[in-house]
Amino acid sequence: MRSSLIGKIEKARRYAKEPGRVTLSGLTADFHGENAEHKVNYVDGKWSCTCDFFGQWETCSHVMALQEMFKQELPREALASLPED
Ligand SMILES: [Zn+2]
Repeated sequence: MRSSLIGKIEKARRYAKEPGRVTLSGLTADFHGENAEHKVNYVDGKWSCTCDFFGQWETCSHVMALQEMFKQELPREALASLPED
């Protein structure tokens, strides 16, 4: 029992160094903005944010920040509104 758990821990450490193995299928975050708190979600392939800007533009600094933070873990389609470098 104990030795098999040790094996899993070692495997987990190896996996943790290979972020390409993980693609986030959804994301829920409390975003502490400069002026207010916002709820940001990526659900069923769509972003949402509770800030006013998002309501008009369907993206905002909070969504873009999360896209940048999780660039490697988010699926390609989740990065659509991220400006090219
Ligand atoms: Zn926002």
